[in-house]
Amino acid sequence: MSLIELSNVTAGYSRDHPAIEDIYLSVASNDFVAIIGPNGGGKSTLLKVILGLLTPFSGTVRVFGEEPSRSRKNIGYVPQVIPSRTFPISVLDVVLMGRMSSSGLFRKYSKIDRKFAVQNLNKLGVAHLSGKRMDQLSGGQKQRVLIARALAGEPELLLLDEPVASVDSETQHSFYNLLSNLNNRMAIVLVTHDVGAVSSHVKSIACINKHLVSHGETISEKDVAQAYGCPFELIAHGVPHRVIGAREDRDHG
Ligand code: ADP
Ligand code: MG
Repeated sequence: MSLIELSNVTAGYSRDHPAIEDIYLSVASNDFVAIIGPNGGGKSTLLKVILGLLTPFSGTVRVFGEEPSRSRKNIGYVPQVIPSRTFPISVLDVVLMGRMSSSGLFRKYSKIDRKFAVQNLNKLGVAHLSGKRMDQLSGGQKQRVLIARALAGEPELLLLDEPVASVDSETQHSFYNLLSNLNNRMAIVLVTHDVGAVSSHVKSIACINKHLVSHGETISEKDVAQAYGCPFELIAHGVPHRVIGAREDRDHG
């Protein structure tokens, strides 16, 4: 079954200048997709559409076969870490927020919630930080905490916005090992502007620059590289890939 199915989706903040246009995307339940695109290319907008936070102007979106807003509880979302932002709450509280959908907004967290939160911090190797304030952590540590929060709701799909920005290469490496492990039990979609940050753990690649293109046989690799700023080197070699949904009827040149 397709976990995410976008068909002919146009969305954004003004109808005259949509941020993403005619998007087709299909993500299977065991997939690990990296979507690459320049800044302003519509990556975060695409994630908002999948999360049901932004209703498209046209086209259809199905997540777990339903309207995206109905499936949000099955989605773990890891927002972009903004380095300088103050974040004066504790690590444990951040992760507990991830239990909100299962505990209800106004219910107190239960012992089970706490246990689950600590377990997730443990899995991510950051349990020792649970009493710290978020803004005392490094970029890589913050990210692990935000992933622990995303996992707290026991999602079947993990969406990550620019997860590898501003972390060193060693952190990046262990981060991908972690994602690769998680991919055994959930689908993963990450978006990034950083071509160098895509690892061979990724199973599919798509490129977005307003339009979304996959690396498919029907499109010449050079055309994709030129039209979408997609990394030709990466498309041509290296990373394993398959088609995840391109407009095959469109002239991409
Ligand atoms: P990316 O995540 O790839 O950098 P975004 O999806 O954030 O790109 O942005 C796509 C386009 O939509 C950009 O032109 C951006 O300026 C515009 N945009 C993003 N968020 C908003 C917003 N809240 N209101 C108006 N325009 C926005
Ligand atoms: Mg973005």
